[in-house]
Amino acid sequence: MTVVVERAGALDDGLREEGFRAGIKLLCVVRALLKKIRRRVMVGDSVLVSGIDWTDKRGMIEDVLQRRSETSDPPVANVDLLLVLFSLDRPRLDPVILNRFLVEAESTGIPLAVVLNKADLVTQEMKDSWEKRLTEWGYKPYICSVETGMGLHDMAPLLEDKTSVVFGPSGVGKSSLINFLRGRSCLPPDDIQALDEVDDEVIRVNEVSYRTGSGRHTTRHVSLLHLPFRGAMLADTPGFSYPNLSMVTSNSLASLFPEVRARLEKSEFSCGFADCQHISEPDCVVGGDWERYPYYVSLWNEVHKREEHEKAVF
Ligand code: GDP
Ligand code: ZN
Repeated sequence: MTVVVERAGALDDGLREEGFRAGIKLLCVVRALLKKIRRRVMVGDSVLVSGIDWTDKRGMIEDVLQRRSETSDPPVANVDLLLVLFSLDRPRLDPVILNRFLVEAESTGIPLAVVLNKADLVTQEMKDSWEKRLTEWGYKPYICSVETGMGLHDMAPLLEDKTSVVFGPSGVGKSSLINFLRGRSCLPPDDIQALDEVDDEVIRVNEVSYRTGSGRHTTRHVSLLHLPFRGAMLADTPGFSYPNLSMVTSNSLASLFPEVRARLEKSEFSCGFADCQHISEPDCVVGGDWERYPYYVSLWNEVHKREEHEKAVF
């Protein structure tokens, strides 16, 4: 497997003097041992590279440094922010689908921001009502329009010094948003700095090919784009499939709802049962008087059913 790497880490003194190595792309092979132990190199990974030939721009990936986080669709390592993108209209915002994406996004453990696009297509009342609703759920939505540029300047600072991935259903404007932001990345890449405090030859992987689940021969590319906001990197491939909630368990589900987290934090007491699932057990401090409660119950049933099925199979 070959990867193209970019963004050199701490460089030796000679290279630092030349000062132009950061940002160079190296074509690397992955050490056989890494493949043997199935350590996959992902976009966003920091990797240790040996035998760098700066003239031919080649090297070998020796090791993958520990990841802070990762997403699987698209596969990106060290993601700091998930932008959960939905449109207010065309397609109309469906709260059930939105909730499913929110729960899936929460299950990665990566901080998320909700962005509601196509604000140009709806009334002020509609925008206000979704803003209020999401705030009650525990999110502060960014309302914008990629078409008119409205609201995007408020959102941009959010991306500073972070690696972000856009995530949402089809047709909501994910590619449009990425292109919009990319179109503005015409500034010199002054945010590509040596990653100080790391060993020599630590490099950040910027582009990788991966096989998609669909079709044996389909290979996709995912790369990180430098945006013109300080230190902002964005995956050029959005996450698009329907969330299968594979990381969610019936026990963890409640913690993926900010409303439940807030209620548990606020309450002086814990639920009566240590393993309370917050579904009509006695002495439950979470209760059912929150808007998304029926949705929580239906998801809990779905996940629980899957777990029972898995138990029966294995
Ligand atoms: P994706 O499937 O999520 O990547 O969505 P696309 O970026 O392909 O956008 C789907 C359609 O929505 C395209 O026809 C876009 O031109 C349109 N679109 C994207 N953003 C906006 C917006 O803010 N307002 C309006 N009216 N249309 C938009
Ligand atoms: Zn409870």
